[in-house]
Amino acid sequence: MSDRYLDLVNSPIGSAFAARVGLPRPAVLRRYHSGDPLLPAPVLLGSTSGAARPGLAELVAGIGAEVRVPVTDEDRWGALILDATEVTSPADLGGLRTFFSGRLRQLVPCGRVLVLGTPPDGADVTADAARQALDGIVRSLAKELQRGATANLLLVEDEASLESALRFFLSGKAAYVDGQPVRLGAGLAPAPADWDLPLAGKTALVTGAARGIGAAIAGVLARDGARVIAADLSQAGEALAKVANSIGGTTLHLDVASADGPERLLTHLAAHTDGLDILIHNAGITRDKLLANMKPEQWDSVIAVNLESQLRINAALLASDQLRDQARVVALSSTTGLSGNRGQTNYGATKAGVIGMVRSAAKAFAEHGNSTINAVAPGFIDTEMTAKMPLATREVARRLSSLQQAGLPIDVAEAVSWLSSPGAGGINGQVLRVCGQNLVGA
Ligand code: NAP
Repeated sequence: MSDRYLDLVNSPIGSAFAARVGLPRPAVLRRYHSGDPLLPAPVLLGSTSGAARPGLAELVAGIGAEVRVPVTDEDRWGALILDATEVTSPADLGGLRTFFSGRLRQLVPCGRVLVLGTPPDGADVTADAARQALDGIVRSLAKELQRGATANLLLVEDEASLESALRFFLSGKAAYVDGQPVRLGAGLAPAPADWDLPLAGKTALVTGAARGIGAAIAGVLARDGARVIAADLSQAGEALAKVANSIGGTTLHLDVASADGPERLLTHLAAHTDGLDILIHNAGITRDKLLANMKPEQWDSVIAVNLESQLRINAALLASDQLRDQARVVALSSTTGLSGNRGQTNYGATKAGVIGMVRSAAKAFAEHGNSTINAVAPGFIDTEMTAKMPLATREVARRLSSLQQAGLPIDVAEAVSWLSSPGAGGINGQVLRVCGQNLVGA
């Protein structure tokens, strides 16, 4: 579904009119296309401590970005990357102001700001306060940036996943991830043989794959090299077959909430695969009603499909011999699970529950051959579901993010594929919001 307002204010006449009367002008986001350079302009690297982090310039250059030093006020930057991992006191925070002021105006449209920090660790209260301050700076800066530029914070506890994270956040794959902190922890995070096919040789299963976000996830996992099993309800048969055929995948008719769902899944894996590397819990439903009017079946069905099914399938997989080492599980949460939403107590319960699930299950998955489990929380995404909203409500919802537009299913799919990749092995038990920095709620 196209965003006519966005198209209009990016047309020659529309953009002049919008500027004159002060209407919001959402940018056309830079999204990933195979063969595109990582960034449209060079990278400026800085450090709050004055000394460059050993190896960072080489790492950034090695992934295909041009690292330059500033020459004139006419410089244009594709990304500003600041190493703030040595920040240990409030006085150190001034280094961020010094680095960014003057440079932010030189950021190209859809440029990237990345701040590298050290996660607070409870050892020193002053250092922890200063480290946490980075979160507030990045979230606020993300709200100030214009023309599709984004700002995110990488909390580097361990460098294992730093390369993979830089590749994701600098590229068009992270177009709709804005104002978010991601903790890079220890983990087995091998570099793939080919960064363009990071999922080569992997078997992936996506639930609810017949349409919407699930279909997009199936497509991106296949693009990135995975053999994809597209699963959905049997009544979605035709649409599901179409998705699977378009990506060279296979289908599985599976009601994730059925009593024998986990067993049917395991039987299918045993018969058709050498084990599962990637599982995406995407199937989800809404049955919105104010809690005062909510019928038991509206409550129960949402809990069963969106949360209980994931818990049961995870438990069955961990207890089986069908989940391979270094497996990746990504579960679809929602910003509703973080901020709540009127009429969605049942849905909000499940989406917050998914977050609780990944946080709690991270240890068990790490112990299963260095596997990981994470959640992705989409904000307002243009899908069939949101197309059914009244026009005015949809238009308002679309503009209520720092990027002033809805995300696309592909934006969610890119984040899911990154967290499913070998190089993301240091990210476990976390929630990544793909919401353009929603201005409402958390
Ligand atoms: P969607 O268009 O409704 O697609 C969901 C798919 O899951 C449908 O094909 C649906 O089949 C299938 N499904 C439903 N119940 C199932 C079951 N018991 N077993 C197997 N498959 C089942 O939804 P979407 O908008 O793409 O959302 C995908 C995920 O992202 C959901 O978990 C949703 O909560 C989450 N999310 C979406 C947004 C958004 O803005 N769209 C925002 C935040 C989070 P039927 O069509 O037959 O029901």
